Amino acid sequence: MFEIGKEELDAIAQVITNKQFMRYRGGEGGFTETFEEEVCDKFKVKHALTVNSGTSALICSLVAMGVGPGDEVIVPAYTWIASAMAVCAVGAVPILADIDESLTIDPEDIERKITPYTKAVIPVHMINTPCDMDRIMSLAKEHGLLILEDTCQAVGISYKGKVLGSIGDMGTLSFNMYKNITCGEGGALLTNNDKFYERAIMYHDAGSFTREHAKAMDEPFFPGVNYRVSEIQGAILGEQFKRLPGIIEKLCERRKIMAEVFADCDKFKMVKNNDESSAAAIPIIYDKPLESGSLLETGRHIYTNWEPLMNQIAYHKDMNPFKWAKRKIIYTDDMCQKTLDILARAKNIEIPYDMSLNETKAYAEAICNE
Ligand SMILES: *Cc1c(COP(=O)(O)O)cnc(C)c1O
Repeated sequence: MFEIGKEELDAIAQVITNKQFMRYRGGEGGFTETFEEEVCDKFKVKHALTVNSGTSALICSLVAMGVGPGDEVIVPAYTWIASAMAVCAVGAVPILADIDESLTIDPEDIERKITPYTKAVIPVHMINTPCDMDRIMSLAKEHGLLILEDTCQAVGISYKGKVLGSIGDMGTLSFNMYKNITCGEGGALLTNNDKFYERAIMYHDAGSFTREHAKAMDEPFFPGVNYRVSEIQGAILGEQFKRLPGIIEKLCERRKIMAEVFADCDKFKMVKNNDESSAAAIPIIYDKPLESGSLLETGRHIYTNWEPLMNQIAYHKDMNPFKWAKRKIIYTDDMCQKTLDILARAKNIEIPYDMSLNETKAYAEAICNE
């Protein structure tokens, strides 16, 4: 969370005054719907659907794309655990791929991990840093794979002029309190595909088949869940979204100053950014493993700590995706050793959002001279 204040409070007050908390009861032009229209407009994407978390957005997107039992989905070995758990939630199995020195999924390892059962890939834009989307999209085309961009950690960041999350078949955003913008807990999915959008609406709202918009839908209705947001979240997000361009600008501005300082620093290198022109984060990498403070210490972001997954356990023995896989899936602690080696040498340097530009420069110099 970078900024929140009076505007969000006023928006919440309005929802309470209206006593209209549910997005589908207020008719058109509610807070959530208005927020989605703004997202579509600014992110240049045809459809946006707000849901109650980034994890829900991932699950809903996989459902929308028809990913299920027997399918394999390639996921990076370094990401928040939810990227991989979402795959299990729809009955498919995550196949882990290494990251490269950009800290994002290595396109070459994606290619190595493709099998006849691979249905989709989830490139994850970690720490506001974009994946190599050109390579990933061309691999997807060549092998007929669906791409779900996990943009939960990079809301509003762009890659070669396109907003992340709008490049693949679907994209997901998270609005939990650690992300670029927040409503406490929340998420959204983006897509240009009408069919995926309809299926996402159906799944995220069990009652969707009786609603006004149901009449306009072409897809057959299937049972869903409830991942809806309330208008309180929609109202906060509407205000947060207005702040987003300013937040990204401040990050980019400070990142640029720090990059100039770090360029002359011989202790470490800046992590390669797949689009230097819009870089908004500044992780660094050393030649040798760090004694402490490396990204290897970020707990559930590293596959070796994904205990429930590594053990291939499910909530019910007959609902275990690993039983439905078309081949035996074996997970070992060293299966993505390259990822572990990179993370042991890498460190994220938080952008000092509240510092002036002069202070930012001094801060970067101090890091170099540490
Ligand atoms: C935060 C995050 C999620 C999940 O978002 P929630 O809103 O916490 O469910 C998914 N993937 C990544 C990479 C994240 O950082």
